[in-house]
Amino acid sequence: MAAAPVPIQSSWAVVQDHRRVFQDLVYLYPVISRRSRGLSIGVNLNPDKRCNFDCVYCEVDRRTPGRATQVNLDQLREELVWLVNHARDGTLATQPKFCEVPELTRQIRDIAFSGDGEPTMVPHFDACVETVVAVKRELGLDDTKLVLITDCAGLDKGSVRRGLELMDRHHGEFWCKLDAGTEPYFRAVNRSFVRLDRILRNILETARVRPVILQSLFFRMRGEAMSAAELEAYCERLREIVAAGGRIQAVHAYTIARPTPEAWATRLERGELEAMAGVIRSRTGLPVEVFD
Ligand code: SF4
Repeated sequence: MAAAPVPIQSSWAVVQDHRRVFQDLVYLYPVISRRSRGLSIGVNLNPDKRCNFDCVYCEVDRRTPGRATQVNLDQLREELVWLVNHARDGTLATQPKFCEVPELTRQIRDIAFSGDGEPTMVPHFDACVETVVAVKRELGLDDTKLVLITDCAGLDKGSVRRGLELMDRHHGEFWCKLDAGTEPYFRAVNRSFVRLDRILRNILETARVRPVILQSLFFRMRGEAMSAAELEAYCERLREIVAAGGRIQAVHAYTIARPTPEAWATRLERGELEAMAGVIRSRTGLPVEVFD
């Protein structure tokens, strides 16, 4: 029987430390994640730091160059095997980064496509999923989830759809970013050339096939939290997705946890986030979890 998950404290240094660099690895990085409830192995499909969003709260340091310009699947595979074996044999537990929680490093709760940009921007997303699935099968990680953390702009691409279908067969979980309810607020926060209606359409089409988790970051922009009208519009977008047949498993409401390049983008207090979560619950009937 699997051990009950240990409550992850956001104050732990290892939780604060979400650097996507570990030793000499180019594509893989281990983190203790609150939302994964333990050890998550991140697969950075954007070592070039490319993203089709430019979120005002993004923590990726784009002033320094990336470590690779494309994804080498042979190397990704080798790094994943190495990291899984090091987690299992206890070597990871001896690393200074994990000294607060060595026991959490032995159980790999998920392998997450994430990283320094948008994972669905790679031209061969399906091949990346195939590579990870092959390692998962080879190393007997049958119960380990495969997570995609996405801004949703590329969910309508053919190779991405094929990748999602493969993930469906291997405990796939889909964490879809949605921070806004209107186009102007979306432009102000996510600063993307992709339109909000395309993001919403992609979320709906994805959620019609399998349930998704919405990841929504709420924060203070130049001192102002999201307005009541914007929050109402956001709730209306969620209701529209559900009414059109999309399955939203849960909403994860969170806020800025680490310093951002834009000093005017600041975090909300726990109470403010809880209050927003309460509004979302009452307006949509959806489960909302708060991560501050
Ligand atoms: S989608 Fe993620 S990686 Fe891209 S800009 Fe936003 S926070 Fe950064």
